[in-house]
Amino acid sequence: MESEPAGIYVHIPFCLKKCPYCDFYSVTDYSFKKQFIKALLTELSIYKSSPLIFDTIYIGGGTPSVLKSKEIGQIIETVFKIFQIAPEPEITIEVNPKTISPVSLKCFKQIGINRINIGVQSFADNNLKFLGRIHSAKEAKAAIRWARNAGFENLGFDLIYGIPGQTKESWLLDLKTAMQFEPDHISCYMLTYEPNTSIYNNMKTGCFSPMPDFLAGSLLELNDGFFENYGYIHYETSNFSSSEEKKSRHNTKYWSGAPYLGFGPSAHSFNGRERRWNVRSVTDYIKNIESGLTPVESQEVLSIEQHIIETIFLGLRQKDGINIKIFNTKFGIIFEDLFKENISDLREKRLIILHNNQCKLTKKGMLLLDSICAMFALSDF
Ligand code: SF4
Repeated sequence: MESEPAGIYVHIPFCLKKCPYCDFYSVTDYSFKKQFIKALLTELSIYKSSPLIFDTIYIGGGTPSVLKSKEIGQIIETVFKIFQIAPEPEITIEVNPKTISPVSLKCFKQIGINRINIGVQSFADNNLKFLGRIHSAKEAKAAIRWARNAGFENLGFDLIYGIPGQTKESWLLDLKTAMQFEPDHISCYMLTYEPNTSIYNNMKTGCFSPMPDFLAGSLLELNDGFFENYGYIHYETSNFSSSEEKKSRHNTKYWSGAPYLGFGPSAHSFNGRERRWNVRSVTDYIKNIESGLTPVESQEVLSIEQHIIETIFLGLRQKDGINIKIFNTKFGIIFEDLFKENISDLREKRLIILHNNQCKLTKKGMLLLDSICAMFALSDF
C-alpha cells in the first residue's frame, strides 16, 4: 500500500462566472490571484519531506485556465522541485472553452501538461444557456480542435445529461457530435441539484421542472451501449476511455483508495486511512498561510466500518469492481462471509457478479448503483 504511487491535486478557485448548478468552490473576484498563487506555492513547500512518489498531477477547480500559462508553469515547476515525481507522470489541466486560445494551449504543452479536459457540457446552445455556461457550442468545438492542433494526444471532455427539455434524441445527438472529435476520454455526468446552488433554488421555487427520473434513467442506460459501439471502455459509472492507457490515472486514485495530496482552498487529501480538507474560502486560505498557519479546516480518521463501506462504494462504481483478495487482506476479513446475504440476494437478481476474485455490478446493477450501495451501507456487520 505504501509504495502505491500517489496523486497531487491543485485547486484553482477562480471562475469567470459561477455556473448555477456548480457546487465546487470558486469565486469570480480575481483581486486575490497573486496572493493566492504565493500562498499555494507556500502550501506546496510545507509537504517537501513527503516520502510519497507521485505519478499524477491534476490542476482542477474552478477554472485553472483563467490563470496565465506562466502562472500554471510556475505551479508545475514548484511541484517538480518539491516532490518526487515518477517518470512519465500524467499531468492534467481542466479548461473552459472560453478561457483558452491556440497560443495558451501550446504553452500548456510546453510547460509539460500532457492531458487536457475540456468542460464542453453540451453541443447544443439551448442546453449551454440553461446551464449558464459562458461558451457556445461553436466555441467548444473550436477549443477541441485547438487542443488537438496544439499536440494533445490525451484529450477528454465532460458532458452533462438530464437537462430539462432534453430528449433521448437530443442526448444521442450530443454523444454523436462528441464522437466526431474522437476524444480519448469522455465523462458523462447526470445533472444534479445540490442544495445551496442557484439552480436548486430555482427548481424548488418552480422556475422549471427537472427531468423526470424515468427519462434521466433511460439516458443513463443509453450511454453504455452507445460508447460500447464505438469501442470505448466504460471503466467507471460516469467515465469512458478510448483505451486502457487513456483512463484517467488521477481520478482512478480516488476510486481505488490510493493516496493523494490536495492543495488550494477546499482541496482534500487522503493517506489511505485519514482524510483532511482545506478551508473553503480563498481569503481564509491566504490569511492562514500568510500567518504561518495550516489551511487545513478539518480531518477525519475513517473507522474500519466507514473504510469498508467506502471501499465498496468506490469499487462498485468501477467496471472491474472490488478486488476481493485485496479487500480481504486490507481489512483482515472475508468479504463473501461479511456480506453473505447481500451477495446472494444481488446474485439472484443478476445485479452482481463474483468471478476471479472480483465483485462487480452487471450492466443492470450499474443502473441501480445508488440503491445497491445503500444496501451494503445498511448491512449489519
Ligand atoms: S466553470 Fe466549472 S468550476 Fe466554474 S462555476 Fe462553472 S462548472 Fe463550476
